[in-house]
Amino acid sequence: MSQICYHIHINGIVQGVGFRPFIYNLAMDHNLKGWVRNSASGVDIEVVGDPAEIENFIAQIPEQAPPLAQIDTMKSEKTSIKSYSDFKIIPSKNKETDFIPVSPDVAICDQCQTEMFDPDDRRYRYPFINCTNCGPRFTIIRDIPYDRPFTTMAGFMMCPDCREEYENPRDRRFHAQPVACPVCGPQVWLEITPGEKVSEKGAAIQQARQLLREGKILAVKGLGGFHLACDATNPKAVARLRSRKRRPAKPFALMAFNIDIIQKSVVTEPAALDLLQSPQSPIVLMPKKEGSDIAEEVAPGQSRLGFMLPYTPLHLLLTEPAKGFPSALVMTSGNLSEEPIIKENQTARTRLEGIADAYLLHNRPIHMRIDDSVFGIVEGEPYPIRRARGFAPNPIRLGNTLPQVLAVGPQMKNTFCLTRDKYAFLSHYIGEMENWETYQDFQKAVVHYQSLFRIQPLAIGYDLHPDYLTTKYALEKAQTDRLPAYPIQHHHAHLASGMVENGLDPEQMVAGLIFDGTGYGTDGAIWGGEVLIGNCLDFKRVLHQKYVPLPGGDLAIRKPARMALSTLWAYGIEWSENLTPYNSVSQIERKALKHQLESGVNTPSTSSMGRLFDVVASLIGIRQSITYEAQAAIELEALADASELGYYPWQIDGDEINIKPIITSILEELKDQVEKPVIAARFHNSIAQLSLEIAQQIKREFSIDHFVLSGGVWQNQLLLERTMALFKKENLKYLIHKQMPPNDGCVAFGQALITAYRYLQDKE
Ligand SMILES: [Zn+2]
Ligand SMILES: [Zn+2]
Ligand SMILES: [Zn+2]
Repeated sequence: MSQICYHIHINGIVQGVGFRPFIYNLAMDHNLKGWVRNSASGVDIEVVGDPAEIENFIAQIPEQAPPLAQIDTMKSEKTSIKSYSDFKIIPSKNKETDFIPVSPDVAICDQCQTEMFDPDDRRYRYPFINCTNCGPRFTIIRDIPYDRPFTTMAGFMMCPDCREEYENPRDRRFHAQPVACPVCGPQVWLEITPGEKVSEKGAAIQQARQLLREGKILAVKGLGGFHLACDATNPKAVARLRSRKRRPAKPFALMAFNIDIIQKSVVTEPAALDLLQSPQSPIVLMPKKEGSDIAEEVAPGQSRLGFMLPYTPLHLLLTEPAKGFPSALVMTSGNLSEEPIIKENQTARTRLEGIADAYLLHNRPIHMRIDDSVFGIVEGEPYPIRRARGFAPNPIRLGNTLPQVLAVGPQMKNTFCLTRDKYAFLSHYIGEMENWETYQDFQKAVVHYQSLFRIQPLAIGYDLHPDYLTTKYALEKAQTDRLPAYPIQHHHAHLASGMVENGLDPEQMVAGLIFDGTGYGTDGAIWGGEVLIGNCLDFKRVLHQKYVPLPGGDLAIRKPARMALSTLWAYGIEWSENLTPYNSVSQIERKALKHQLESGVNTPSTSSMGRLFDVVASLIGIRQSITYEAQAAIELEALADASELGYYPWQIDGDEINIKPIITSILEELKDQVEKPVIAARFHNSIAQLSLEIAQQIKREFSIDHFVLSGGVWQNQLLLERTMALFKKENLKYLIHKQMPPNDGCVAFGQALITAYRYLQDKE
């Protein structure tokens, strides 16, 4: 039988995911000779052998690829026959400018889990077991290429057994960079007084578990940073954690050993189960069940709980079921208020003193800190709320090749974005940029991503807001590097992000119903209830919520009662004594507020939809002041009676959405003592119906039939699902976020797109 030769090039996430050993083994199975090597953004293969075998080999590559691989394109062509004596994995041939993909961190795989609980395995109960298909990646990579010396595993010398596995292409740990065992790898230990080791290895984990059982608070060093853990079924322990962390109400995430335990506390639909058990292993928000043993203090005022499964071997050992041991643990970020999650042992010892009763530490350094990702489930599909561990730094795939640009992102929930080729590297969640530590972290992360993906930006995009730290950073960098810089309106970025994420052509005109908290407008006002028409180059504001004053700026955001009084004032509705917001503001504050509204001092105008939710929550007496972002809106949603379908009227006056009729209807119903859950639902329905009317009007007037639903308000699941149902019934095409959050976590991606297309346009 005559032999033939084929050359195959594969593009996508195929490096650092066990792809070359997979090809090696597949080639062996088909008696092929030749080689495989990493190349620019992919893998190159050359095989010589029997034509039928080669055909099967090529067909099986996409079918049997390792779980973490993502094949974007695969090209194969017949070439002239060469002679090889065997099949080899050969060194990569990279140019300095080639881009090499970096895998996100991956939750422990089933095989490693089985080995870890097998008493005969040499890694029995070893908290750092991993393999080619699982374990730390992005968080331990200091530089590329992804090889052990360039990771934080560099300091651990492999023992002969581990080396043997690492070097054997037939072994499932072949080239697993973090490969380790109890003999040669990282270890855990416990400290009670910071700096004093009281136990180590298995004994440390057992002692930590004993402390958790006793209701103590434990700082646990994990994969991307520290968690603070406590017994989630112990109200006192949770309350203590809340008071020590000065976090009165913001929900805590939970971790439980397996799905069965999680299902006792929440309703898990199939998409939620898939997501919980995925290699990304994020926190999934699911409806709370009656009779759950999770303490009320974990998520006060919420209808959902956020669970994740143990995604590292250490977490598995820590949560393992045992008699008298808590069925679920609170696992919240180990940080102070809005600071970045702590990643160093020494920082944890000093910053978490007074919060943690003990510290479960280990000696594998974390290079890049990363938070847990968070998802909801909307209509049976994952809906991102925070995109971080497990997802970053995987790029978002684009339909077109873009020039290399940097977009610095927004102030809140910051991420940044870098583009090259057909990829947008949207960073992991960085955090709240008003914080100096976060800003330091942001700058380091930008440099790290630029060097990992070898990106030299040709242009920079930044938010229109003149006072943001990111704006300052962008302008300075633009000057130093002599780059053009593009100021980008916040809600325009939301629109661009939503359309391109859904695969639309960047120049197509779409409409955006951008319902958001805060974004700086082109007129200097604070926008947030916006209807825009545009594409990745430009936009027009066709409708917006009528401006109301935001007395004291941030103060009005923290105190929905002030916002409610301000809105009533703006619409000429008298402040009466039987209104809850009236009574929750002191007489002195009321007087000062009235004066402020009349004089307009420190009172910017806002069209924010987020604030309207605050106003309604205040009016119906749910919340007058908040301790975390969107608390009032979240509690309003949780209260709403989902079976109620009624809604209130509104008015569209020219380019203004006038919500006065909604407010007056609510006031009347309050007077008539209509139940609060009914009012809350009718308000949600009103915004959904309003969205429908807007879309129909735009379709008629502008012949536009794609509607992007973006902005933080669309995290409200009740509102989103109601709106989607209405749009579906009327055959209107809505676009919702799927790969990144609808909140400001999507803004950097939109900024990057607009920057790239404006840069291209300017170059012409
Ligand atoms: Zn594994
Ligand atoms: Zn070893
Ligand atoms: Zn926004």
